[in-house]
Amino acid sequence: MVGLRLMASLFLLLLCSGTAGAGPPTITHEGRAYVDLARVADNLKTRLDATPDSTQARLRTGIHVVTFTRNWSRILVDGAPVVLDGPVVVRKGAWLVPEGFLSQVLPRLVPEAPAIALDEMRTRSYPSFTRIVLETSGPVAYRVEPGGAREMRVRLLNLAGGPQVESITDGFVEEARLERAGADALLRVAFEGTAGELKVATLTDPPRLVLDFARPGDAAARERQAFTPLRTIVLDAGHGGHDSGAVGPGGLMEKDLVLDITRRVAKLLEDRLDVKVRLSRDTDAFVALRDRTSFANRERADLFVSIHANAHRMAASEGVEVYFLSSEATDSAARQVAATENGVTQLEKPVNGRAAGRAEVLKSILWDLQQSEFQTESSRLAETVLDTMTQSLRIPNRGVKQAGFYVLGAAMPAILVEIGFVTNPREEKRLKESRYRDEIARAIVGGLADYKRTWDARARAAADRMPISR
Ligand SMILES: [Zn+2]
Repeated sequence: MVGLRLMASLFLLLLCSGTAGAGPPTITHEGRAYVDLARVADNLKTRLDATPDSTQARLRTGIHVVTFTRNWSRILVDGAPVVLDGPVVVRKGAWLVPEGFLSQVLPRLVPEAPAIALDEMRTRSYPSFTRIVLETSGPVAYRVEPGGAREMRVRLLNLAGGPQVESITDGFVEEARLERAGADALLRVAFEGTAGELKVATLTDPPRLVLDFARPGDAAARERQAFTPLRTIVLDAGHGGHDSGAVGPGGLMEKDLVLDITRRVAKLLEDRLDVKVRLSRDTDAFVALRDRTSFANRERADLFVSIHANAHRMAASEGVEVYFLSSEATDSAARQVAATENGVTQLEKPVNGRAAGRAEVLKSILWDLQQSEFQTESSRLAETVLDTMTQSLRIPNRGVKQAGFYVLGAAMPAILVEIGFVTNPREEKRLKESRYRDEIARAIVGGLADYKRTWDARARAAADRMPISR
């Protein structure tokens, strides 16, 4: 439909503007300008039902039918009469219609193409490229247009989106700005330095345009950078502010519990490991899920560790679980946990006037998951942390699980630790104790320390293999 509409508008424009030589030619007959109906039909990608000796001709486009009668000015458009400024004639076997038909009738025959809606624009930073994904209600045609030295412009045809600005600041892309440009949207990507090379992929179900901007520069240097010791860890205390998370029978709120434990973990990490620790929240404040991950991406963290407490309708449920990101949840219980934790997105501000539903959120991360360079590392991290936790805390090991947690959508190995069940009265009581909280923090740090040791050993080995220019 879009193609047809564009074609017809172009055709109209060319003909009506009267630009010499630009459109199908007009034919002069008895001092009047005519156009060949067969050519009009061609441009509409339809066919003219007529023979040189028939008295009537029919043009069908979509649901519309136009009937022409030889030597008559009156034509029928969907059965309703329209009088043209001259009669329809047949000359040398060709059906000719007065030029006025183009402006008078043709626009009615072309269906209005519904504008394509922008469902979401999301961005993510990877070590070697920055990705901008536009999820839309239908397939979008695009055109790369000239930008400046530090800007790239992509015109998205017939897309109703913008204005919208996403600050990225990942050391490569500064921001992505979506603006209105007539019937189109214009994506302007500003770079902090030199613009990167663009690769575009069009994907379906849901329809989306994936734009990858590759960082310029030496690939080997980037490889080497990937083999550096573990330096930065982002700790993410779940929930906060008006989102209290799970609440125990004794009133213990997940948001308070996990913030306290996260602070303990941060302090221990800084004392015991030579790493930089950043918290996605350090107060009782609500932080949107996407802001937690983009914070970690901006900090160029090596690991993302989200800390939560579990809830279950069976009060006896107990133990520790560690999740890593995956497209397939391990079991239906894991899926339930993911759905509950993801449910927080419904408390968040709607994106483009609509709240992202759970299903949409899960769906939206799937493609990135398939591309995930970090899934193996994340599962290794999850196992290491779970092992130390269950050993030192001597509590049931509920296993490493996979689930589609939105919050784990970080461009780095990422896990989500469920430290215990606040809904279990016995566990809730213990979780209120400062001493037990210290034990949990020490156990998490023990796991992270183990993981850092293997990471750093691998980094050293890789650096030895890699020739470094001196
Ligand atoms: Zn939680």
